[in-house]
Amino acid sequence: MPSGRHFLQIPGPSNVPDRILRAIDFPTIDHRGPGFAEVGRAALDGMTWVFGTEGPVVIYPSSGTGAWEAALVNTLSPGDAVLMYETGHFATLWKQLAERLGLNPLFIEGDWRSGADPDAIEARLKEDKAHAIKAVCVVHNETSTGSVSPIAAIRRAIDAAGHPALLMVDTISSLGSLDYRHDEWGVDVTVSGSQKGLMLPPGLSFNAISAKALAASEQARLPKSYWAWDHMLGPNEKGYFPYTPATNMLYGLNEAIAMLREEGLSNVFARHARHGAATRAAVRAWGLEVLCRNPNHYSGVLTAVVMPEGHSADAFRAVTLKNYDMSLGNGLSKVTDRVFRIGHLGDFNDLMLCATLAGVEMGLRDAGVPHKAGGVQVAMNQLGRASDTGRAAAE
Ligand SMILES: *Cc1c(COP(=O)(O)O)cnc(C)c1O
Repeated sequence: MPSGRHFLQIPGPSNVPDRILRAIDFPTIDHRGPGFAEVGRAALDGMTWVFGTEGPVVIYPSSGTGAWEAALVNTLSPGDAVLMYETGHFATLWKQLAERLGLNPLFIEGDWRSGADPDAIEARLKEDKAHAIKAVCVVHNETSTGSVSPIAAIRRAIDAAGHPALLMVDTISSLGSLDYRHDEWGVDVTVSGSQKGLMLPPGLSFNAISAKALAASEQARLPKSYWAWDHMLGPNEKGYFPYTPATNMLYGLNEAIAMLREEGLSNVFARHARHGAATRAAVRAWGLEVLCRNPNHYSGVLTAVVMPEGHSADAFRAVTLKNYDMSLGNGLSKVTDRVFRIGHLGDFNDLMLCATLAGVEMGLRDAGVPHKAGGVQVAMNQLGRASDTGRAAAE
């Protein structure tokens, strides 16, 4: 093992703070005993705050993919049409999951360089006069590309089309990093996971559920058992679960929620936005291209960088790992080996970002990737206290 801290700069799992690791280290207790209810209720109540909802939240012991499946099987019936938007790899995986469940996903194609376009969604819904489409599914922060979809505008687009479809949003890589408001934005099911903005190890996933989604779940005919909301919601009322919960992960979740409360959600969001802006400034100074082309959709969670023609992103990432013990995100499916991704999410600060960008700049040099030196300096200037006024101006 190399000495010093490994830099885990992939866009999830993110760095797990020591505070959370220590919280997870507490003894596992009887999940049906009197001491457990407080742990369970604290986690459920805390997550309603993080989601910005007064409705129920369900917590599964699963990866984010499980919560994707839960959102669909609880609300839909075999053969239902669902409108999905190809923002990138994760949107594509959710669509494939819908196909395997026997749903009929209609895919609005995208070029992987921006978030979802509300106008395209509105136009497609207006064509659906018979209201065959039962749900609109969008990825909030597309982790394969670093593009953010405008959820409030998508809600307005659905309303403008006068369409009754449910709105389902994947916030697996945005919750706890980017501004998100389940109730205010009129989302019906929000899907999330533990290992990105929530700073936990992988292993927990979430559904936040609107009253409309809950009503839909009473008619939904897709088979479900493990994922069934109704099994969860009864025991959850008192802080218990219908099967063995991930007790130690719930300790960690309560610690993560405490950390978010201490920093304040708006400060957390501003920090991510600032780190995103500084990273993009560094990328441009290197003479490289940011994959996201729509400035309104830039992500504070990660930055995907396009490799210069003829150079391998994976070979470059292998160099940063070998020489500087830093993991960067790879390009997924359509952009395999064409992009690398810098994660700047979760438990993170200015100096960690500077070190991350220094590792990228040294790696570019070591791997012989054509670039201009000095991107780190540009980011430092932007982050430094002397440029406080420049901060607000930075995008
Ligand atoms: C990570 C991620 C997923 C998949 O989550 P798993 O925990 O790997 O199942 C889905 N969607 C988005 C946007 C993600 O970032």
